[in-house]
This record gives sequence, C-alpha cells and structure tokens, in this order.
Amino acid sequence: MPDLKSVNHEAADRLKRAKDKDKLAHAYLLVTGDEAQALNTVYWLICYANCQGENKPDGTCVSCQRILSGNYPDVFLVKPEAGRQTTSIDQIRPLKEELAKSPAEGDFRYFIIDQAQSLTLSASNALLNLLEEPVAPVVTFLIANNAGQVLPTIRSRTQIIAFEQKAASGRDGFLLENGFSQEELAQLGKTDQFDQQVKYFYQELKDQDALAIISAHRLGDQVKKGGKPMEKYLWLLLKKWAERDLENGELTLAAAILSDLLTVDQMRQSNVSVLNCLDFLALKWQK
Ligand SMILES: [Zn+2]
Repeated sequence: MPDLKSVNHEAADRLKRAKDKDKLAHAYLLVTGDEAQALNTVYWLICYANCQGENKPDGTCVSCQRILSGNYPDVFLVKPEAGRQTTSIDQIRPLKEELAKSPAEGDFRYFIIDQAQSLTLSASNALLNLLEEPVAPVVTFLIANNAGQVLPTIRSRTQIIAFEQKAASGRDGFLLENGFSQEELAQLGKTDQFDQQVKYFYQELKDQDALAIISAHRLGDQVKKGGKPMEKYLWLLLKKWAERDLENGELTLAAAILSDLLTVDQMRQSNVSVLNCLDFLALKWQK
C-alpha cells in the first residue's frame, strides 16, 4: 500500500499548487530512480484531491483509505504484471473505455502508469492515442526511472517532473557525471560483456600483448553495432582504467596510456574511425 509519509516533497508541493489553482496538467512524467517514492507522491496528490478530512491528505478518512487500498473507481494503476518485465497493450486498452466515463466521485479520474519504461512499443502507441484525446477530466501520471526509455512522442505530451536525483549510483551515475544523457544511457543498454572486453583490451595494452590487435577488432565490431554512445563509452572506460592506475601509483605506464588516449581524442576529432584508433593503440603498445 502506498505510504503517504514517504513522498518527494518538492514534487508533491508542485502538484498540490497546480491542483489548488485547478491547473493540473493533462499528463505528467515523473522521472526518478526511486519509483516507489514517486508512486507514493502520486497517491498523495490523489488523496489530497479527494480527502474528506481537515488535514488533507490525512490518509485515514474513507476516501483516502479506499484510494490507498486500490478500491476507488476514479483511480487506475497500470504496471507490469507479476513476474513480467513489460507492460502490454492489453493492460493499456481498458483505459480507453475509462477515458470516456465521467469521474464517479471527484472532479477527475487518474491514470497511473508505473514503470513506464516497461511499456511495449504497442502499449506505448496505445497510450499515446489516449494522451492525444482532447480534454477528458483525466490526469495521467507516468512514472519512469529512465526518461530515455519512454517514447519521445509520449514525453513531449507530458509535463516532466524530474526528481532531485539521489546521486545515481554505479555505472549510470558515472556516465551521467561524464556527460552522458539519459537518452544515451538508454541506447547503451546493458554493457557487462562489453565492459569485460574493454578490460581485457586495456590489460593487453599494459602487458604489451600482441593479442591486443585481435581485441581491438572485436571491440571495433561491438562499437559499430552499438553506435555513437557505445564509442563514447569505450573511450571513457579506457580513460577510467588508466586514471585508476595512475591513482594507484602506476605512474609511468598509466600516464603514457592516458597520453595516447588523448591522442586518440584528437584523431577522433579528425574523423579517424574507431577501428583505426583502436589499431593505433594496439600497435603502439606492441612489444
Ligand atoms: Zn483523507
């Protein structure tokens, strides 16, 4: 059950102000790494709008209780079914019918699409159709941990509320700090295997291993498939390894590799292909 005490206060305030002025948008996209908190925030607003108590939302009146327990006719929550990674079009379709109905209790009906990044393409398109419908008294909330994975046409029809990021952690945090956009993160996808390959390549450079040239070609192929974000990621990773070695006191070696990586940056600016850049490194570091 949603916890009204664990909300994002900034977002809740913003929604409350809009509600007070009767200016809630047609659709919101809440972007956050903490989807549970975002869901709480959405429920907080809906309770606020329908609460019968004095201190809205009290969470205890009949309306709040019905909303929070999922027994309120004006609130629809859609999320991936248990054990599934995606939200299917069959889950979005019923909303179309609901869109035509009038609110049963309050002024508005509320559609909540939790984990919006999990919408399949057909589900996204169905949702897009809903959002394109002219003004029904419906407010749609999409919650996503990654705006880049929400269809741009959907994004453009929503007001985006990006939660203050609790410093994104791990790889994504590192990449965001280093100039990657959410869009690029989304394009990058999972990189576990690629990470390994880059690590091997880097180690081969350090070992002046002749096999580096083979790894170079393997990486070149991967980058070709992954496109620009993958290439950006490759050079960033190599620099990260070299910088880490530098910090660990491998001064001469790491500094030399870093210097070559800066040369690669210049080569890239002159449109030298990624494969040629990788070859350059592999050959330079051959015994
Ligand atoms: Zn209440």
